Amino acid sequence: MTTILDTVSDGRPRHPEKAHRPDTKVLRKPDWIRVKAPGSQVYQETRKIVRDNNLVTVCEEAGCPNIGECWSKKHATMMILGDTCTRACAFCNVKTGLPGAVDIAEPNNVADAVAKLGLNHVVITSVDRDDLDDGGAGHFADVIGAIRNRSPATTIEVLTPDFLRKDGALEVVVAAKPDVFNHNLETVPSLYLTVRPGARYFHSLRILQQVKELDPSMFTKSGLMVGLGEKRLEVLQVMDDMRAADIDFLTIGQYLQPTRKHHQLDRFVTPDEFKSFETNAYSKGFLLVSSSPLTRSSHHAGDDFGRLRQAREAKLSQSA
Ligand code: SF4
Repeated sequence: MTTILDTVSDGRPRHPEKAHRPDTKVLRKPDWIRVKAPGSQVYQETRKIVRDNNLVTVCEEAGCPNIGECWSKKHATMMILGDTCTRACAFCNVKTGLPGAVDIAEPNNVADAVAKLGLNHVVITSVDRDDLDDGGAGHFADVIGAIRNRSPATTIEVLTPDFLRKDGALEVVVAAKPDVFNHNLETVPSLYLTVRPGARYFHSLRILQQVKELDPSMFTKSGLMVGLGEKRLEVLQVMDDMRAADIDFLTIGQYLQPTRKHHQLDRFVTPDEFKSFETNAYSKGFLLVSSSPLTRSSHHAGDDFGRLRQAREAKLSQSA
């Protein structure tokens, strides 16, 4: 278990909807899930830039196990639109509730942090904002525009919510021309009702397909967590669904249960099984696959973007 953050903050539970659930049993982590402790000097510098610019990061809010490694290389994934999510997914450690007003200074603050961190590639994600008419799409576009103005050479990856029932929202984000559009399917369809109750599997899949229809040059990416109780064949079926939607890049990582109140960890998937998922995914035609216990959507995203471009060029030159 990575973090225990189900304690009271600002006088309220972090996850009020989960507070009355029974505690689940804790499984001991296997040897292959070991991470570097945070605390290097560069880690502290990254932390200071994040704080000085009044930013929220998914690295901290989700209790990501890779934070020691990523922040020691100044790789932080910005989470825009506040720190409070309107959904209540059973796997997620981001605070839930009614969010505050959108911070109009945020696009400039994010752009400033990206410049100070000297990022070649940045990942921007957000909480889900079902309370906003456009689901926060306009704000995503503003953040992309501010980064482009300030750091034109930086490539931009967005990891968006599903914009369910927000007509026209997806088009606004695609028109802002991020380099990579990521939306995570997270799990197999049979687990949606328990793991992602506010989302719809085919809607999420369709979002990614629509991105490709709107802009065929945009890279699309999606991710799955395993260890939630899914069957191997279900994972292979999701890969086929993703390829039918022309998704370029697949990430698969181990689910780590944030607290005893979250969705119960079913099992730790072995490194060999992750390797087998990778082999299967490449055989199905993904341009790039990252499949390992500590794979996360934004882990090594900059290096992976370079590999993604190379893979597309190689494929195009083969078919020429
Ligand atoms: S993997 Fe992503 S979320 Fe985790 S610490 Fe690295 S950049 Fe942050």
